[in-house]
Amino acid sequence: MRRPVVFIVMPVRTAVIIGIILLLGVVIYALEIAVVTTVAPIRDVVSGRTVAIDAGHGGPDSGARGKSGVIEKDINLHIALELRQLLGRAAVYTVMTRESDHDLIEDGEDITGSRKRTELERRASLVNSKSPDIFVTVHANSFPEPQWSGAQVFYNPQSAEGRRLAVHIQTELVSRLGPNTRKARPADIYLLKRVNAPAALVEVGFLSNPREERLLADAAYRERVAEAIFHGIVAYFADSPKSDGAAHMLDDDPGNTWGIVTKAGALASPLTPDSTTLYFGGPTNFDDSLMPEVREIPGLTAMDRTEALAAVLHATIAGPGKDSILQSTIPRGTILRSVRLQGDTASADFSAELVVNHWGGSRSEEMTVYSIVNALTEFAYVKRVELLVEGKPLETISGHMQIEGPLERNLSIVHVRG
Ligand SMILES: [Zn+2]
Repeated sequence: MRRPVVFIVMPVRTAVIIGIILLLGVVIYALEIAVVTTVAPIRDVVSGRTVAIDAGHGGPDSGARGKSGVIEKDINLHIALELRQLLGRAAVYTVMTRESDHDLIEDGEDITGSRKRTELERRASLVNSKSPDIFVTVHANSFPEPQWSGAQVFYNPQSAEGRRLAVHIQTELVSRLGPNTRKARPADIYLLKRVNAPAALVEVGFLSNPREERLLADAAYRERVAEAIFHGIVAYFADSPKSDGAAHMLDDDPGNTWGIVTKAGALASPLTPDSTTLYFGGPTNFDDSLMPEVREIPGLTAMDRTEALAAVLHATIAGPGKDSILQSTIPRGTILRSVRLQGDTASADFSAELVVNHWGGSRSEEMTVYSIVNALTEFAYVKRVELLVEGKPLETISGHMQIEGPLERNLSIVHVRG
């Protein structure tokens, strides 16, 4: 009977404080219920899964660089670490290829062969050794045309699950960070091919676009990027694969003219015997692909084969025609050292600028490579193209592609305006 008495004699101020504390307790309890009910479905969907996260580049390899000095490897790492934290909160296991500014090669280590190739192989085997459910590699893009902007996700064209993952992440990037008209696209990227799990390469934006460079330099924006990727991953796990291969959601927009161009001749307006097709970058933000340009090279038919190949490469290096709206694909200062033809394989040797002055970015790397390969394979007697830089086989330009041996014509990244 004493306790109520204690309350009654308590000073009013103390009673008020106790009241507030009790009220706060009730509010916090209610909030917790609300939070738990919101978070629980996400946890149910993803908990116990394993996601491997790769922060692109690192250490001596900086990746792309913005005009104001923003460096791709740093952006990638911060977003990757944020993503790990978000996944961790949802009870997802994560595997990181790096957690600080280094690559996967020790200082002073003796590497036989190319450092970059060894480095990428190690990332792939590290990821494969953990057998994750999915793999996401984070990059920032760059292109010579400052107008290009928008986050974009790439996948291995051989992987339907990779495509599904990429489409989900793209959808979240667009809806959370838009406006952005980019779509998930197939790409020839070494890690996407070598990692066994469904894989997506996320280009979080263009460091070559002043607005996006500014955004990506802001830690709060990078956190939003990580959240968008996180929600894309959740959506991927939530959308269990349908037996029909989930084709319903993979349809690109009906008006899209992407796809494999089977006959290069079909691209051409009236051809003269001295005309050939060159390949340059698309003119706008919507054309993240190569586009054909029919070009007359005087005397082309009279040249011997090697001369003709050299003429086409000189024209590709020189860039789009005077009145063209297309973009150059070859970094400034690049010169052709030599071109040779052995059997049906052409070997083109370029100066170091092809690599040193490249602007970085996975898509632009592909575009540089295939603008050369496609222009040379316009000639029926060229079936394969070997790329060399300063006399040595080219293995990668900016660290996204891994080139092994001569390349064949690739028209899947050629976009023809319909
Ligand atoms: Zn990159």
